[in-house]
Amino acid sequence: MFSSIKKITEKLLNLGFDDEYGNDLNQKHVVNFSYMMFCISSVLMLIVFTSRCMPSVAIFSFVGLFLGLIGLRYNYRGYFYRAQVLMPIIKIVQIGILSLFYFGTNSGLHWLFVNVVAYSFVVFRSDQRSTKYWVVCVSALLFLACELLDTRGLYLTKIDQHAVIVLVFFSVSFYFAMVIHLVMNRLKSVNRHLRILAEKDELTGLSNRRKVLADAVNIFADSVINRESCVFAIVDLDHFKKINDTFGHEAGDLVLSKVSKLMASVIRPQDKIGRYGGEEFIVILPNTTLNAAERIMEHMRQSVEDMLIETEHGIVIPVTISIGLASIESSVSRYEEILAQADKGLYEAKRSGRNRLSAQSNYQN
Ligand code: GH3
Ligand code: MG
Ligand code: MG
Repeated sequence: MFSSIKKITEKLLNLGFDDEYGNDLNQKHVVNFSYMMFCISSVLMLIVFTSRCMPSVAIFSFVGLFLGLIGLRYNYRGYFYRAQVLMPIIKIVQIGILSLFYFGTNSGLHWLFVNVVAYSFVVFRSDQRSTKYWVVCVSALLFLACELLDTRGLYLTKIDQHAVIVLVFFSVSFYFAMVIHLVMNRLKSVNRHLRILAEKDELTGLSNRRKVLADAVNIFADSVINRESCVFAIVDLDHFKKINDTFGHEAGDLVLSKVSKLMASVIRPQDKIGRYGGEEFIVILPNTTLNAAERIMEHMRQSVEDMLIETEHGIVIPVTISIGLASIESSVSRYEEILAQADKGLYEAKRSGRNRLSAQSNYQN
């Protein structure tokens, strides 16, 4: 029950969202949330005043509800600016008329103008400054008018007025808490998305150089602390320049992308792989002996050799890789030393004919 309410609320909040990670940080969520609050309060007022046989306030609430639904529809249909501006207008008119003519200024209903001001600061961007200040000024002036004037409420008893004060307090607190929550959530999700972008290589979908080297530092440190063996491997595509020259750069990109996916699929879940640069990749195998790593990497080499990559014209591109491996069996002071050893292994593999592995064991005390 609770989760389905949450799902419906989330759906309503996401109305009209087409660009999930665009530069709109929070506005659409806050606009949708404001309309939802507005529609719910209009429905409640409609029920209360209809049951009390007060048709004029009931009709007033009904008109409010109708305008609220129009605003939601605007947002859904992509008329965001209209939805954005309609909200404060209907709120200002509603709070002003209710406070001054229906409920009386003693009800404290005009404190809801605080929500309108908060809305303007969150929702209007810097290029909509003039709209923002208009809304803030009108809200502030009407608030002052309500504070200074002492109009009697025609529709509320003394007890009702106290009830309205309590409701206004909860409404303002809830609105503020929700707006902050929405803004924080949106910032968090945009942040997450940016982090993924900053750590991912676009062409291959693997970790980029920065991320894989950060993984290397962390895994190296863990291995030294826990006195475990760990293996670094450098993988390089053979004669890749020739592939580019023969089949074109686009085919080269296709090869890089396909080989990367295959390599990522043959390593274990705890292993890390990333693009080191160009057609070179790093694989990090934590808590693994050199023998075990050799088996895994040999399987990778064989799988790439067996792979069938076809261009869009149906031409098969033969691809092979050479791999250099190095391990720490005991503490080494810097991870760069193992990478340099692996690079030496790669050089050996290339020198002795390519499409093979060359392992370097690094015993140090
Ligand atoms: P070796 O077997 O000795 O490694 O020879 P190689 O031709 O693979 O190595 P070399 O370093 O001579 O050439 C690497 C080529 O990779 C050169 C560069 O144009 C190409 N390359 C680097 N990044 C990309 C890329 O993102 N896409 C494509 N299509 N080519 C790339
Ligand atoms: Mg190469
Ligand atoms: Mg290379």
